[in-house]
Amino acid sequence: MTESAEPRTDRAVVVAIDGPAGAGKSTIARLLAQALGLPYLDTGAMYRVVGLLAYRRGIAPPFCDDDLKVLEEIANTSHTELACGANGPVVRVDGEDVTDKIREPEISTMASAVSAVSEVRRALVPVQREMGLRSGGVMEGRDVGSVIFPNADLKIFLTASPNERAQRRTLDLASRGISTTIERVVEEQGQRDHQDSSRPDSPLQVSAGAVVVDTTGMTRDEVVNRLVDELEKRTGSSLDTTGENTVRSRNHGS
Ligand code: C5P
Repeated sequence: MTESAEPRTDRAVVVAIDGPAGAGKSTIARLLAQALGLPYLDTGAMYRVVGLLAYRRGIAPPFCDDDLKVLEEIANTSHTELACGANGPVVRVDGEDVTDKIREPEISTMASAVSAVSEVRRALVPVQREMGLRSGGVMEGRDVGSVIFPNADLKIFLTASPNERAQRRTLDLASRGISTTIERVVEEQGQRDHQDSSRPDSPLQVSAGAVVVDTTGMTRDEVVNRLVDELEKRTGSSLDTTGENTVRSRNHGS
């Protein structure tokens, strides 16, 4: 189907931001969402929650068949809330605030391991798609442009040099009171990126039609402005960066 032949509906804008660990996706997605008056949707937080709950149940990779059943049950029955708090995004699972706990290095590793499990992805992807369809949003993750919203209004693959990515993550962890070293973060991110890109189900990749933005040496404002420009080009509209944006967009369905 050609682009012009696709059904057009008055749906809120969906921006898909994918990329490797520490590329600045969360910061940029949050700022862009704020500028456009759209919800910020962090799909990685949902895999981190499953990783945390699995960790608490004593499950560790490599997963046996019984582990897979427990992971599937966790993904299907836990209720993750992505809220907007006074100091930034808040993540709750079944009412418990786990915002900082899910950023611990061992939970990052668990998140990557559980996200390679198809039963887990099958539980989370429909929920993520539903969130975006309900109100639009700036959604960040690994498979947003390839699987969740292949027809998003704008698809971005955000990346940066390994050193810059590790520096950003180390600062982010320090601001949450989690101390580590750049060397440890480089190693952890390298392992996670390798696992995320090489898994058979929904690997991290530059999806068709995505714009690759290398943020090495760019300021946050420069990146956000670049993304607003790209979105304006794609939607053919001049965007109001102070409020709601419901433009006539393509059908987002997969
Ligand atoms: O984005 P973040 O680093 O918080 O994601 C944690 C982990 O969750 C990633 O390393 C990746 O394995 C997984 N993930 C995923 N698909 C997404 C978002 C995150 O597999 N859409």
